Amino acid sequence: MTDSRSRLPASSRERHGGDTQRSSEPAKVAPVVAAATLSPELSVELKMRARDLAVRYGDKTAIKDVTIDVHANQVLALIGPSGCGKSTFLRSLNRMNDTVPDVSVTGHVELDGEAIYGPEVDPVLVRRRVGMVFQRSNPFPKSIFENVAYGLRIAGISEQRVLVERVERALRHAALWEEVKDRLDESGLALSGGQQQRLCIARALAVEPEVLLMDEPASALDPIATAKVEDLVAELRDELTIVIVTHNMQQAARVSQRTGFFYMGRLVEVGDTTQIFTRPRERETEDYITGRFG
Ligand code: ADP
Repeated sequence: MTDSRSRLPASSRERHGGDTQRSSEPAKVAPVVAAATLSPELSVELKMRARDLAVRYGDKTAIKDVTIDVHANQVLALIGPSGCGKSTFLRSLNRMNDTVPDVSVTGHVELDGEAIYGPEVDPVLVRRRVGMVFQRSNPFPKSIFENVAYGLRIAGISEQRVLVERVERALRHAALWEEVKDRLDESGLALSGGQQQRLCIARALAVEPEVLLMDEPASALDPIATAKVEDLVAELRDELTIVIVTHNMQQAARVSQRTGFFYMGRLVEVGDTTQIFTRPRERETEDYITGRFG
């Protein structure tokens, strides 16, 4: 939690019309707007915002005109058919797309009111504040302990006492500690699929990110392991902000407070999860959630 986090009113556009992809707002928005005259329930804390975001791979446009707010300490779910740009958008929130050859990102993304694509911004530091968990758990062929300590060592922490403490904290946070506390020296690869995914979540949490991006984190897991990850997401939002891509609409409804629907590279609409699933404003959203396409 930082004082610099923007506190903005939930705009009427957001509440009644959603973030539309065609924002007329200027790309750079003043980070702080006094909300003193608003009742607390009408104000939300913004953690991140994207304005007029477009990403191209070579000459192929993957997403365009994406304008969306990410509210602090909430889970934002991104749904939509395969190939519509959800992962591309997710990766643009921590500059992970920078690692893709021939990519071009235009538009504006802010974290706590500061542009993350500014020329002076170090993407490594952005990724430390905005962590990521992928669809396929990808533990390193190292011990459970070293998997979690990895990011801490990269961040320059070498004192064993601190590493031990932070690794335990991250594993507790990821609801894995009780299952692995007696086998920290065993390979991370010896864990079950669900445990490996929670190990990767622990690895991401160890460096204490403020935002966690999750790209279909449970799609390769069985129902029990999926339920554990979903419970974990619900708990983690007390301490951080989560953006989760899922192709599973029930999962989006279970874990998120807000949902954005992507279709063919555009954000069709975003709003409270209940509203999106019960009273979508756009025909395309309705068709998708009722199974008419996708
Ligand atoms: P989703 O997450 O909704 O399945 P993606 O963001 O993965 O969608 O993909 C959006 C579009 O961008 C797709 O047409 C996909 O083929 C393309 N794309 C994604 N990643 C790359 C990449 N690294 N290089 C080239 N094209 C890509």
